[in-house]
Amino acid sequence: MDTSLAILVVDDSKVDRTLLANMFSGSYSLLEARSGREALEIMAHEKVDVVVLDIGMEGMDGFEVISAMKADPALAGVPIVVETSEHAHEEASLLAGADDFIVKPFNPVVVRKRVENIVIKHVLERERLQMEVQKNELLASRRASELLFAAEHDSLTGLYNRSAFFRKTAAYLAERPSEDYTVVQFDIERFKVINELYGSEKGDEVLLAIAGALRESVQDIGTYGRMEADRFAMCLPRAYATEKAFEQPLAAALERTGLDRQIVLCYGMYEVVDRSMPVDIMCDRANLALRSIKGNYNEHLALYDGVMHQAFVAERELLDEGGRALLDGQFEPFIQPIFDLSTGKLASAEALVRWRHPAKGLVAPGAFMPFFENNGFIVKLDGYIRESVCKILFRMAELGIECPPVSVNVSRLEFYDPNLCQNLIDLVTRYGIDPSKLRLEITESAYADNMPQLLEAMDELQRFGFTVLMDDFGAGYSSLSMLRDVSVDMIKLDMRFLSHEDEGVQSRERNILQAIIPMAKSLGLPIIAEGVETGGQASFLKKVGCDFVQGYLYARPLPQDEHIALVSDAVRGAFAFGEEG
Ligand code: C2E
Ligand code: CA
Ligand code: CA
Repeated sequence: MDTSLAILVVDDSKVDRTLLANMFSGSYSLLEARSGREALEIMAHEKVDVVVLDIGMEGMDGFEVISAMKADPALAGVPIVVETSEHAHEEASLLAGADDFIVKPFNPVVVRKRVENIVIKHVLERERLQMEVQKNELLASRRASELLFAAEHDSLTGLYNRSAFFRKTAAYLAERPSEDYTVVQFDIERFKVINELYGSEKGDEVLLAIAGALRESVQDIGTYGRMEADRFAMCLPRAYATEKAFEQPLAAALERTGLDRQIVLCYGMYEVVDRSMPVDIMCDRANLALRSIKGNYNEHLALYDGVMHQAFVAERELLDEGGRALLDGQFEPFIQPIFDLSTGKLASAEALVRWRHPAKGLVAPGAFMPFFENNGFIVKLDGYIRESVCKILFRMAELGIECPPVSVNVSRLEFYDPNLCQNLIDLVTRYGIDPSKLRLEITESAYADNMPQLLEAMDELQRFGFTVLMDDFGAGYSSLSMLRDVSVDMIKLDMRFLSHEDEGVQSRERNILQAIIPMAKSLGLPIIAEGVETGGQASFLKKVGCDFVQGYLYARPLPQDEHIALVSDAVRGAFAFGEEG
């Protein structure tokens, strides 16, 4: 046995003690006690691994020693082998808590073996317990660090989350008071579309690729984290805060995802001036810069400046103002006619909201719609515009003017309203208008959401007799094949196809159009082109088989009275664009 194990021989007979001591010497380190009291005394100070205990002793007998040991938590686990010459004591001592017994006269082989067995059993048990404790401690500390990690890190990418990024960056800046830093926010242009077209797993893969690239390239030069969804943040020495600095590593990482679609990142930056500013405000400012270029095809990086701040304040004011302006009747639809390209005749029209602002004059929707979309006010405004259009149609019917259909824009947010269909049906019924007179333009990106609500609502609206147009078709949210899956009645080409001004239509756009139009035709879908500004564009559109046109070349969006006048001229045959001169 291992001599570092201590055996305590408790016996009031010197002969027996000596006999036993001889049997154990060399195998254990040996302690001897002449009485029960002395035994307890020794065990109070020394580590004892096994006790060999005489039962019949003067004064405190073996049974008393056993019960004293069992009552003491420090000793209760120490194994006890009793020595006895009385048969009756064997059972009694086991019941009292002894682990085994040896009988006098001692047979050295049996004594050694039995003690050894007990010791091995206990040592193993103790080791097992110790391991258990260590394992539990390890698990607890691992769990604690896991919890800490989870509290500070984003579960998908493992990057710092928002609040941890704020904290780490504050500490990072505090440690480096003399260098200049820039806080950067960036996100993926149209990330939602990646999720929609390729699935959210692919979307996750893209986010992971970006996280990996940040780890590789920013690890040693600054802080970085994931704010939310596809928005990431960094704090970097100013010299590194350029689009160029990340272009290469990010592009390489994104390429590994194998997406066939180019992924464009947009950066907003804020140059830290005031070190006492909380990091979340720095991030807000970088984010403001980022938002200023969202949806802008040519710019992918913006630096925060005072003008942006003013724009931000102005935007907030605008939101507050919208509600009041609606009550005040400051919104009205302008109406832009749409012509049949082959005959030049007025075919339909589109209602486009305008804000007749008391101080700013006539404001186009680009300046307020995106913000109203953010806070949901757009739903109210759309409802108002639709009703205004119905009033115009009603008025024209009263005047006896045969009015071509007018389309209204339906915001994608409205499809979250379960009453949308019923409201539309009620509206046309109330004004006694044929539903085919009120066309509904739904932007292509709403279809890319592929919301079941949208498809259901469209179905119901079409069954009731409304005409549904897919607006901004080809803007890039959807694939051509989508046309087969959603049952629209007409498509309106995205203006971007015509926006490049060289010879009316650029070759890339030309190619896409030449692919789209026959496809739409094969599905029996009439095509409207909007934003037609030049004769060159018009003749190209005619050549490729576009059916209807809308644009400044023919007419601008008109106030309702002018629209009514134009329609009555048209029905009298006095107006068609071909005759404009
Ligand atoms: P949209 O539905 O694609 O409307 C077409 C936009 O093109 C209109 O801009 C129109 O004035 C403009 N446009 C027409 N012809 C030409 C042209 O020849 N050249 C150029 N460059 N532009 C032309 P607008 O009125 O500023 O409206 C912008 C967007 O705001 C609309 O795009 C639509 O998405 C949204 N919008 C307008 N009115 C409403 C509304 O009542 N409700 C909703 N939800 N959205 C609206
Ligand atoms: Ca439209
Ligand atoms: Ca459009």
